[in-house]
Amino acid sequence: MSVTRRDFVRTSVLGAVATGIGAHGAASGPPNGNGAQGHASANDMYKRPIIITAHNGFNYIDDAYAFLKNGGDTLDAALRVVKGPEDDPKDTSVGLGGLPNEEGVVELDSCCMHGPTRRAGSVGGVRNIKNVSLVAKAVMEQTGHVMLVGEGAERFAVAMGFPRENLLTDHSRKVWLLWKEYHSTTDWWGPALADPHWQPPQEQPEGKPQSELWQERVRRLEKHAANLGIVPELRRDAVYKVLFPPTGTIHCSALNEKGEISGCTTTSGLAYKLPGRVGDSPIIGAGCYTDQDVGSAGATGSGEENIKVAGAHTIIENMRHGMSPKEAGMDALQRIVRNYNHDMKKLQFVDMIYYILRRDGAYAGVSLWTGYEGGHPHQIVVHDGTRRAEDATALFQGFSRDFPPDPKVPAEVQKQFQ
Ligand code: ASP
Repeated sequence: MSVTRRDFVRTSVLGAVATGIGAHGAASGPPNGNGAQGHASANDMYKRPIIITAHNGFNYIDDAYAFLKNGGDTLDAALRVVKGPEDDPKDTSVGLGGLPNEEGVVELDSCCMHGPTRRAGSVGGVRNIKNVSLVAKAVMEQTGHVMLVGEGAERFAVAMGFPRENLLTDHSRKVWLLWKEYHSTTDWWGPALADPHWQPPQEQPEGKPQSELWQERVRRLEKHAANLGIVPELRRDAVYKVLFPPTGTIHCSALNEKGEISGCTTTSGLAYKLPGRVGDSPIIGAGCYTDQDVGSAGATGSGEENIKVAGAHTIIENMRHGMSPKEAGMDALQRIVRNYNHDMKKLQFVDMIYYILRRDGAYAGVSLWTGYEGGHPHQIVVHDGTRRAEDATALFQGFSRDFPPDPKVPAEVQKQFQ
């Protein structure tokens, strides 16, 4: 199924500002004019080796590219990229320092696929082990299974020699506490009546502009953050993560000169999720899918929506049937749109970014929206001899909102976080 002009016209009639196809033009494209924004033609030559990843892979892709160029395995190259954010306590969407579930426990998901041997491994809901992407690889190599979850996955990792460690950093713990306090008007979390900092719930003063009310809310949160001991330079970040619960995750696909291709995805999942919730990232065919004959694709964004369209697998199948990487990704996005009957009131709370690498080196980054509310435009990071970040091609121009929905944060309040 291709993305027809009629589909796009209908979508825009239903509320989208623009389709985004071609919107970014060649300016952000790679030097060879192919890739993220380009369409493939049978005669196009693409650069190999090549690695594509999410924005948080930027600092790690150089090393992985050198490894790949020196003959390193494609999956090992991709794992080198994603291990960076897993090890980084400051990346609050992956591995160590990932924001926890609603009970304050970090639970990680990951999967990988090795194209040349057509194998896969995956782990879901893993606690206390930082490098779950490597655990997924160990499941692939050391067991007859494809997926392990929860306690069993943790015990397997320990048996394989992975150290158990506390993944909840002090900062993530405090951000989680701040989030609990912000959302708890009816429970026992937060300062008690007897606390000198306790304040009665604010009445909605009639006629007060929304932006003023929000400024007050932000000030109150900053005060709470100070009471929790969050250092001044991290307070704004903490408030941001409460008002706009961050999504993150990292996917990486790598292709070598021989045409071998692999991919992996790793995440701490949605911040403040229900304990036991597993997203799309460890689901083979949703968060990642690699087929040695076609290519590799991965996803970050609204995991539940991606599972329902088997995003990465859909993209690979679309390419198998002749679509370019960008067309294949746009079609997967259209399936998410269709699942909501094009209802923009709901779709404003959904976002998805697909990272797509075809076996010949053609690639694309596509997203449902231009970026997350309060954030920057979605980007993919590419290395084919030159490292660069490129804007993803958005289906809808505009910024998606976080779910569960809070009253909309006015633009002038959002600006102070940018
Ligand atoms: N896809 C991830 C999940 O649903 C979250 C994200 O990418 O931000 O767990």
